[in-house]
Amino acid sequence: MEVTFWGTRGSVPCFSKQKIHFGTNTSCLEVRLGGTERLLFDAGTGIVSLGDRLHNGGLIEEETLHLFFSHFHWDHIQGLPFFKMVYHPDARIVIYGRPGVESVFSSQLLGPYSPIPLEALAAKIEFVTVEGPLQVGHARITPFPVNHPQSCLGYVIEAGGVRLTYATDSEPDGGDMDRLLLEHARGADLLIQDSNNTVEEAPHRKGWGHSTWLDCVRTAREAGVRRLALTHHDTFHSDHEIRRKERMAQKEFPAAFCAYDGLTVGL
Ligand SMILES: [Zn+2]
Repeated sequence: MEVTFWGTRGSVPCFSKQKIHFGTNTSCLEVRLGGTERLLFDAGTGIVSLGDRLHNGGLIEEETLHLFFSHFHWDHIQGLPFFKMVYHPDARIVIYGRPGVESVFSSQLLGPYSPIPLEALAAKIEFVTVEGPLQVGHARITPFPVNHPQSCLGYVIEAGGVRLTYATDSEPDGGDMDRLLLEHARGADLLIQDSNNTVEEAPHRKGWGHSTWLDCVRTAREAGVRRLALTHHDTFHSDHEIRRKERMAQKEFPAAFCAYDGLTVGL
């Protein structure tokens, strides 16, 4: 299994020269399984660069793209109208999400939000409402709810003996939702978790639906994960601040690292 982070920023892209290393693209993760099924998670602005790569010969023959949404807040959908593969006549795309996934997708392409008519989409696109575990090729994908306003899904991806847990946009609740996250992170080879807030910011952001590096480290330790990727960096945090977050996390959990746009990790 090979994982590429195409977008690691939360909320909205906001470029500055202080953010060159980690990048400013919003959430998008690619998981390659070595077959004809490619998994994508979320369609923030990171998916635009991925679409360009696939369009320029990166797609293998007979391949299907499986795009899973965690939820429909802007930073997880805003790249989709600019994902070149939806206009590619040879592309096959299956889009998964909570109930309403099809209408979210189509309304993004309607005026006054976009000049693109639905008929312009040349790819074969299918929609699937996520209601429980799914099998995609030889991968098993298990959705689970995480604590975020208007609800959000995390996913466990298991294939070839490797276990990956993707849990973006989640806030500790001190109760059932934390237990659910622990249960789904247990024994993961890689846990990818939201680390949007600093420990100092967190008390002022209650109910926003995000975690700190310390929350992530606690989950990683208790769940016994091998590696921890901190992602969904705050819009306004500089490279310097994110490196500081990484150093603090590594002191407590040496196998922690901050993901950046374009990073590939082999599992
Ligand atoms: Zn988000």
